[in-house]
Amino acid sequence: MIFSKKKKSFEELDSPALMFHGAANTVTGSMHMLKAGGKTVALDCGLFQGRRQDAATRNTEFPMHPSKIDSLLLSHAHIDHSGNIPQLVKRGFTGRVYATSATSDLCEVMLADSGHIHEEDARYWNRKRAQTPEEEIQPLYTVEDALAAMKNFQHMPYDQTFAFADGATATFLEAGHILGSACILIEIDKPKPTRILFTGDLGRFDMPILRDPIEPLPEVDYLITESTYANRRHNNPTDMKGKLARIVDQTRDIGGRVIIPSFSVGRTQNVIYYLVQAIREGLMQPLPIYVDSPLSSNVTAVFKKHPECYDEKANDFWKEEGALFGDGLVKYITDVSESKDLNRRTDPHVIVASSGMCEFGRILHHLKNNVWNEQNTICVVGFMAQHTLGRRIVERRKELKIFGRMYPLLARVEILNGFSAHADSADFRRMFAPIAPKLRGAFVVHGEGPQPVAMTGILNDLGCSNVHIPNPGDVFEL
Ligand SMILES: [Zn+2]
Repeated sequence: MIFSKKKKSFEELDSPALMFHGAANTVTGSMHMLKAGGKTVALDCGLFQGRRQDAATRNTEFPMHPSKIDSLLLSHAHIDHSGNIPQLVKRGFTGRVYATSATSDLCEVMLADSGHIHEEDARYWNRKRAQTPEEEIQPLYTVEDALAAMKNFQHMPYDQTFAFADGATATFLEAGHILGSACILIEIDKPKPTRILFTGDLGRFDMPILRDPIEPLPEVDYLITESTYANRRHNNPTDMKGKLARIVDQTRDIGGRVIIPSFSVGRTQNVIYYLVQAIREGLMQPLPIYVDSPLSSNVTAVFKKHPECYDEKANDFWKEEGALFGDGLVKYITDVSESKDLNRRTDPHVIVASSGMCEFGRILHHLKNNVWNEQNTICVVGFMAQHTLGRRIVERRKELKIFGRMYPLLARVEILNGFSAHADSADFRRMFAPIAPKLRGAFVVHGEGPQPVAMTGILNDLGCSNVHIPNPGDVFEL
């Protein structure tokens, strides 16, 4: 493998090659570039989330002009993997976006929601700053842009090999991470047969609702792997129900609210699934539970449409109970005025709202209204990237900046890592053990600080010595 330090630009290469762009030494903005069969292909096109100015810049910079990218292979619908597709299309990308059917359907609701958030956010700041028209903040993309981008999507079934370039094919394999998530097996014929596995985000075994990740993984020459939790062991997900019930009960006892920032896809459904089970099993008394997110009800509809993604237990539960996500016990709020009304409630209750990293969306209003009250609990159920409000909550900062104002953080902060939809170090070892000794090289992405280093250690231990942690712009000829 040759590491070409800008001797030749990626666009000039004809042999199979990789160039790293987003989620290189960080966890958001997943986007990597592949040269195969004479075509230039993007792997994912995610939204970078972080400091406002950084995000504005990084989400409008692509590794090359979007019109020069021939197609896109999308691992899953999470916004940090799919959320910049509307921007890519808006700036000239005309190729196909290959994704599983569930991922495509999720993207339809998630990208529109993302466009809506960007529109609202721009409106809010423009109102707040009362700037001159020339200085107005423009949304990154709009709902219209998002819906226009959906025309590029091509629904693909799992396990079906398809050609995306001359002599280059891809196959979506179950990743067990969120509904529709896939690892992508890429097979290139020329100049010599080369197989690459892009993990996307890998999930976990025995998680609720979803099937397990494919086992064993296919043998390949090169691996591009995420490393989000390569340095961690998760709590057993079966403990999460009891812990959640205890947090809710303790907060209820002192008359407070439980605020749960949560991704709308997967995490919200898992939290609700456990809360509902805890009530049905008598682990906690019923109390009002609100899912304050128009997106979550739309996402639930997509979950209903794709039972091919469920594991056996979820299929059985669905048949017995008729509903997985608390019909009758949980109120799904879509209306803004109903969302605002929640703040006037004085009885103990639970609010689950997005965004998961507290960067935008209705969760910001609930945090603004609740972080300064010591009766309340902020229950963190997901990973928080650096420089997000969510990370500052996890760090239990004394003060939090929300909508430009400082609020003291007096609410209790509880962190439940067991909900993670990401593989941990033990899962990675289990999945990579059969394939690592035969790898010619591995690239570790989607991790920051000690995480990619830990993944390098895992792969070295398992017999792969050629492991790289690429930086944005690094090019590798395969
Ligand atoms: Zn993901």
